[in-house]
Amino acid sequence: MVSFAFDEEHEEFRATLADFARKELLPNYRERAASTEFPFEVFRKLGELGVLGIGLPEEYGGTGDEDPVLLGLATETLAYGDVNLASAPVQIGLIASQLVHGTKEVRERYLPAMIEGRETVAIALTEPGSGSDASALATVARPIDDGWLLSGEKTAITWACNASAALVYAREPGSSRSKGVSCFLVSLDAPGVTVSPMPGMGCLPLGWGSIHMDEVHVPTEHLIGELGRGFHTVMDHFDFSRAALGLMCLGAARASLDEAATYANQRETFGRPIGEYQGVSFPLAEHATYLEAARWLCYRALWLRAEGKPHTSLASMSKWWPPVVAKDAIEAAMKIHGNLGYSAEFPLQQRFRDVMAYLVADGTSEIQKRIISREILGRESVAF
Ligand SMILES: Cc1cc2nc3c(=O)[nH]c(=O)nc-3n(C[C@H](O)[C@H](O)[C@H](O)COP(=O)(O)OP(=O)(O)OC[C@H]3O[C@@H](n4cnc5c(N)ncnc54)[C@H](O)[C@@H]3O)c2cc1C
Repeated sequence: MVSFAFDEEHEEFRATLADFARKELLPNYRERAASTEFPFEVFRKLGELGVLGIGLPEEYGGTGDEDPVLLGLATETLAYGDVNLASAPVQIGLIASQLVHGTKEVRERYLPAMIEGRETVAIALTEPGSGSDASALATVARPIDDGWLLSGEKTAITWACNASAALVYAREPGSSRSKGVSCFLVSLDAPGVTVSPMPGMGCLPLGWGSIHMDEVHVPTEHLIGELGRGFHTVMDHFDFSRAALGLMCLGAARASLDEAATYANQRETFGRPIGEYQGVSFPLAEHATYLEAARWLCYRALWLRAEGKPHTSLASMSKWWPPVVAKDAIEAAMKIHGNLGYSAEFPLQQRFRDVMAYLVADGTSEIQKRIISREILGRESVAF
């Protein structure tokens, strides 16, 4: 029998987060989103709520076993209040699930700090010359007696400007494509590291930036996971994060449609509330429908992951379509608000700019469609 119900524990957690999103996040979202300061104070509150440790080891303060559906519920619910902060559990899940393969010293140093919301660690894969074609990365890790010297540049990195360290993907000299790529933990205050901000059209508090490395010493103990296997590990984790990011965008869109519905009931033109005109009510109905469809696509991808079933294709569907659905719904909500939808005094324009990031971040729509079509047509049929 098919069930679309969440279990009791999930529902309780969702209700707590919904309350937090509406009362604590939503009222100051616009101000926070307009600043380049990372909101550590609110981040710590997310830690206290247990949001930052979903699926991470209990000994470091996490919830234990991987729980993809709970992660999706958390990001969707928090995004109603603040889409930028809602990305934190996904980002931490992605990074910390790799740090668990580090040494005991690394785990103890970073995992509790991230799970409690005291510190951030970035993930640095993209380079000026390689984004979608991630395995073309050029950053080199030259082996020396007590570790490696890393040289290269990472770009478009979330949390670069507020993180204490980054997971950096670098290759063995002379290697090519995914072979020879390893994951290293690089302290961002190490000699030879330069972090530069890259202001974007949204997501400002996330501290987007580039990380330049010039012969940066990385000790042997800061290799994360197996030498030469770094690329495969990170790709597996992207299957996990993509559907949660889709739900996050939908949470922001849901808040926008709710605001549009309230406004449509209040605002009058030609002697009637605008919600009585089908030109206003039908877009609300249409976007509510798209949101519902996209939402269950994401939860199905997360459920398949939880069941240990193949989900790569569904994860990609959940990454390319829901952000588009969300962006279009926010645009419709802006239009329903007339001039106020365009006003910087209202959160709608801010959500639009913040959600736009996810059309690119974590793999563009085109790259997701390549993954899906590869499965439909068979790997050999699609040119790389
Ligand atoms: C807000 C934001 C946050 C980010 N955070 C991080 C982060 O924390 N860490 C990190 O490592 N990276 C991060 N990124 C980088 C992101 O992952 C890359 O921007 C993304 O993978 C695309 O790479 P690119 O920008 O180099 O574009 P390109 O790869 O140069 O692509 C340019 C265009 O060509 C299209 N294209 C490329 N190849 C193909 C193809 N084979 N078929 C069809 N179309 C194709 C793309 O879809 C895109 O439209 C972030 C990006 C953004 C916008």
